[in-house]
Amino acid sequence: MSNDQYTLTDPTKLYADIDTTAQSQPGAGLDAKLDNKAALGDDTYRGSGRLEGRKALITGGDSGIGAATAIAFAREGADVAISYLPEEEEDAKNIVSLIEQAGRKAVALPGDLKDQQYCVDLVAKAVEQLNGLDILVNNGGKQQSCDSIDELTDEQFDDTFKTNVYAMFWITKAAVKHLGPGSTIINTSSIQAYQPSENLLDYATTKASINTFSKALAQQLAPKGIRVNVVAPGPIWTPLQTAGGQPVEDLPEFGEQTPLGRPGQPAELAPAFVFLASAESSYVTGATIHVNGGMPTL
Ligand code: NAD
Ligand code: MG
Repeated sequence: MSNDQYTLTDPTKLYADIDTTAQSQPGAGLDAKLDNKAALGDDTYRGSGRLEGRKALITGGDSGIGAATAIAFAREGADVAISYLPEEEEDAKNIVSLIEQAGRKAVALPGDLKDQQYCVDLVAKAVEQLNGLDILVNNGGKQQSCDSIDELTDEQFDDTFKTNVYAMFWITKAAVKHLGPGSTIINTSSIQAYQPSENLLDYATTKASINTFSKALAQQLAPKGIRVNVVAPGPIWTPLQTAGGQPVEDLPEFGEQTPLGRPGQPAELAPAFVFLASAESSYVTGATIHVNGGMPTL
């Protein structure tokens, strides 16, 4: 079965060759070390000039959803800066090479999103090396499963909020000064903002914050011609899920609860980001695109 964007396919049968086997990775996890590699769209995504000459910064652009988005943006004609943790250099090198193979400029900016100074410097360096900025994707995120509030440490609660919420605030605040009319900000939320799992108390709460932040900011920036939108993924096969995001024993059934009956792949998210980044979505702001296999979000 073809997994490209253009062929008529049964969505319940796509990516049947990718098994989410039980596995565990330390730290943030690597795409390179996934037992069954996620589909990033590197062998399928076809661009059509929708982001020609644009300049994008994507946090967590080394792997998973951010990496698929970086590949798609580059193939649509954008220069792309990616942020990631230093320990993810192997994945980042691969994405830098794919951006360059698309004939675009790639800028690699490793560091820790929990560090305010890194976030401020990240924007400054991206603007300098891309010679401007008109797309910001706040996508980097931390998800650690924890069964009980008794075991949820202050440190984890703080780290999850710093990575998922504070970094978005710090980076957006620094970026807004550089964004002109027509620019777009896209924040990655989650089905967890709508159907929180009991073992993702801190994470689900950050994702609801991202939604609310985005809807308020969209109103604030609309008069300046800057749009702010959200992509809310469902269960997607990425390193985060194998690096403590889910209990290891739950991985084989990961995504089977969705109406489409399977996990999504990062490649299936990229077109939503492309739409929201491009002028095709010129009247769309404060909105959320759900890419979740059909899970209800009301
Ligand atoms: P991923 O592990 O591939 O990407 C997450 C990235 O976040 C990492 O690559 C890493 O570079 C970055 N990151 C994490 N902590 C960081 C830190 N302290 N400093 C710098 N970078 C840091 O996983 P993904 O699933 O593609 O995640 C991307 C986004 O999608 C996240 O916001 C996640 O919450 C969201 N999301 C994922 C799913 C899913 O099922 N995979 C579902 C809903 C939402
Ligand atoms: Mg990564």
